[in-house]
Amino acid sequence: MIAEVISIGDELTSGQRLDTNSQWLSERLGELGVRVLYHTTVADDLAANVAVFRAAVDRADVVVASGGLGPTADDLTRDVLAEVAGRELVLDESSLEHIRQLFARHKRDMPERNRAQAYFPAGSRIIPNPNGTAPGIWMDVARASGGACHVFALPGVPAELFEMFRQSVAPAVRTLSPEVRVIQHRRIKCFGAGESHVEQMLPDLIRRGREPSVGITVHAATITLRITAAGATSAECAVAMEPTAATIRQCLGSLVYGEEDDELEDAVVRLLAQSGRTLATVEMATAGTLAQWLSRAASGEHHYLGGQVIHSPATLVQLLGPAMDLVSQFGPASKEVVAAMAASYRRQTDADFVLAVGPFPIEAAHDPQQPFHFALATAEGVTVKASSQLGHNSIWVPRAAKAALNLLRLTLLGEI
Ligand code: AMP
Ligand code: MG
Repeated sequence: MIAEVISIGDELTSGQRLDTNSQWLSERLGELGVRVLYHTTVADDLAANVAVFRAAVDRADVVVASGGLGPTADDLTRDVLAEVAGRELVLDESSLEHIRQLFARHKRDMPERNRAQAYFPAGSRIIPNPNGTAPGIWMDVARASGGACHVFALPGVPAELFEMFRQSVAPAVRTLSPEVRVIQHRRIKCFGAGESHVEQMLPDLIRRGREPSVGITVHAATITLRITAAGATSAECAVAMEPTAATIRQCLGSLVYGEEDDELEDAVVRLLAQSGRTLATVEMATAGTLAQWLSRAASGEHHYLGGQVIHSPATLVQLLGPAMDLVSQFGPASKEVVAAMAASYRRQTDADFVLAVGPFPIEAAHDPQQPFHFALATAEGVTVKASSQLGHNSIWVPRAAKAALNLLRLTLLGEI
């Protein structure tokens, strides 16, 4: 079965609001084993909507539309469906009663315009809306080429749409297609190598047509390998994915830090908790990113002690004391300064580990090859690493924070 998702609204085509319903609906349809081949976004315009729905009915088996079911003059979806299917709009008394009751519950009179929401194309089915006045519409439209397209029109309000999809559309789609299977994903998360390097390390896994399939995506230097399997049940999918996951873990070794929603800081906090040791952070370039990430990951336990953001020379003087001479001697972004930051903060906090991130060198704005430094202070001494900033400057900060976390992770694993 092929699906099309249609999003309707001037606020979407004008750019005032991002169309998040299409993303959500496509994920849910994918889980039901339905392939979404088209996303169409269209303004509140009758002729444009009719054209869009005609095309969708011809090329898709299932259409899920959102928006345009409100009571106002710009809400056209019910008229569009009636026109596309060549049917009259007829009043549904029970829907009118439902809308009346909703207003009565809020002690308000029902505006006359809301009557429009109780009209449906003849022969369509009503999709109940437990959370709002606009019911949805399920209508089967005959195709010129034979067969029918199943159209589900839902209101645009995301919370109403989610509930109506779960309660009514998903069960309907399941019964429409007996061959619909469960689709499951498993995500394996890696850090520390480039995307093409990771792909090379995997023996022909990322190949079209492989079952289970493996896809690779990168987000701010974190690489995600997404395994997808289809089967009769979730358990069957899980069994089918296991050997692929094991191969990935074996080939990538310590590049793999976790699965699903795991971030590097979750992996670090787990390792700290396992070894019963503590961490504190002191940051310049990353401006509190490490503190924020680690505080979230370590909520409810105390292996992360906290951190300091150094923004002004005065605070750096307080931290470094006499070692401040290193700044004039080697420069603020030097390895000597960041090593001193880590060592000083470790003395202050008594943490087992201190991660320090120095500033990005001023010259890096013109020459990204100019390295910044980060350091890990332990009871044994201080390890300093240099890294140049690859990629767009919008990802410099998360990348730097992740590089620092990864240094600690590999140390805790005994790999460094
Ligand atoms: P409508 O059903 O067209 O009256 O839309 C009701 C509300 O839902 C409006 O405030 C829209 O901004 C919001 N909305 C409509 N379509 C979408 C969409 N595709 N994604 C996110 N929000 C939406
Ligand atoms: Mg609208």
